[in-house]
Amino acid sequence: MTSHDVAVVGAGMVGAALALALAREGFDVAVLDAREPPPWRAGDEVDLRVVALAPSAADLFGRLDVWTSIASARASPFRRMRVWDALAPGELAFDSAERGEAALGWIVENRLIQHMLWRALAADGRVALRVPARVVGTTADGQWRTLALDDGTSLRARLVVAADGADSALRDRLGIAVRERDYHQRAIVAHVATERAHQATAWQRFLPGGTLAFLPLADGRSSIVWSVPEREAARLLALDDAAFCAELGAAFDFRLGRIVATTPRAALPLRLRLAERYLAPRAVLVGDAAHVVHPLAGQGVNLGLRDVAELVATLTAARSEKRDFAAEYTLRRYARRRRSDDTLSAHAFDAIQRLFGSAAPPLAALRGAGLALVDRLTPLKRALVRHAAGR
Ligand SMILES: Cc1cc2nc3c(=O)[nH]c(=O)nc-3n(C[C@H](O)[C@H](O)[C@H](O)COP(=O)(O)OP(=O)(O)OC[C@H]3O[C@@H](n4cnc5c(N)ncnc54)[C@H](O)[C@@H]3O)c2cc1C
Repeated sequence: MTSHDVAVVGAGMVGAALALALAREGFDVAVLDAREPPPWRAGDEVDLRVVALAPSAADLFGRLDVWTSIASARASPFRRMRVWDALAPGELAFDSAERGEAALGWIVENRLIQHMLWRALAADGRVALRVPARVVGTTADGQWRTLALDDGTSLRARLVVAADGADSALRDRLGIAVRERDYHQRAIVAHVATERAHQATAWQRFLPGGTLAFLPLADGRSSIVWSVPEREAARLLALDDAAFCAELGAAFDFRLGRIVATTPRAALPLRLRLAERYLAPRAVLVGDAAHVVHPLAGQGVNLGLRDVAELVATLTAARSEKRDFAAEYTLRRYARRRRSDDTLSAHAFDAIQRLFGSAAPPLAALRGAGLALVDRLTPLKRALVRHAAGR
């Protein structure tokens, strides 16, 4: 049995970033994942799963020395945002120049981020990477948590971190329940070519029943995330490309002209999920294992990376003060801070989803007035941008 300071279970974008950050701080880290991530190659078609990374995420990747490789490979900065509503007048406009920043964020493939993080992990001699590996049992006693793995071996660590995603099996094994709300919606994702250029702008239109985002890609196309009720998703997926492009163009108010081409589409189920606790003896949760939020604000992985930054700061501070970095009293600070920020964000996105998803006339009027008002209130707008940027 090997012994480590920290064992990270799940090396998606969040788990891999955490493992790398802790290794760079001198912790002895083991990281395991059920599978190798699919490779990322520059010549491949842009993967359908992309995220809008906030400046705080880019800062973290910068500190981990992976941002330059990500940004130069295939990241697309967006400098402006336009948000408007199908049922009411008023528009919210953000511009990175107002904050003196180069960009409001970057659109990057999940696969590219994970690829660069795994490359850095493999190059870092201090990280024990175990793939494929699954946890089949876990116990905590005193100073250690032990993980029994599916290959018959075990390892133990002072702290085990569950980073194994929304359906975290480790969270279940730790006996941590989740609160869940099924939106009964699916997010249709595809990359589309439009008649007019995307202008390095992230566009979002609220529609009765869902939201539609156009996110600018480096090759001039836009990546769409279209949240619709489940039955509507099935109907849209069954359309041929021409009919889908026509419906998409109309739903987007033809802001970028006609939709002239689309890739094959995929659809992902949408849920709100919050772990009731982030802490168990000698274990914590991070990323989607702890919280799954509606994608309308493009914040899911950004929140996960804020978990990473907070956890690394908590562990390093405890160690430098010669305290037990994995003791419950140390980790309580991490759990309290992150759970309250994640919960607040999740409920805010949930409220926006409900408010804008309703076609009831008083609500429609209220939100139209709201967008126009927020747009005129410079300090509030600044605060919104600051929060979305993770500053
Ligand atoms: C349509 C859509 C659009 C989105 N857009 C954005 C956006 O614009 N911005 C944003 O910030 N977020 C966005 N998100 C959210 C974002 O994709 C997630 O928050 C993010 O992928 C979560 O990362 P993670 O590393 O926590 O989990 P995951 O990416 O799920 O990684 C989990 C890892 O654990 C491994 N694993 C799973 N089970 C086991 C096991 N039993 N044992 C060992 N390993 C295991 C997996 O192989 C994987 O490597 C979006 C989500 C959706 C659905």
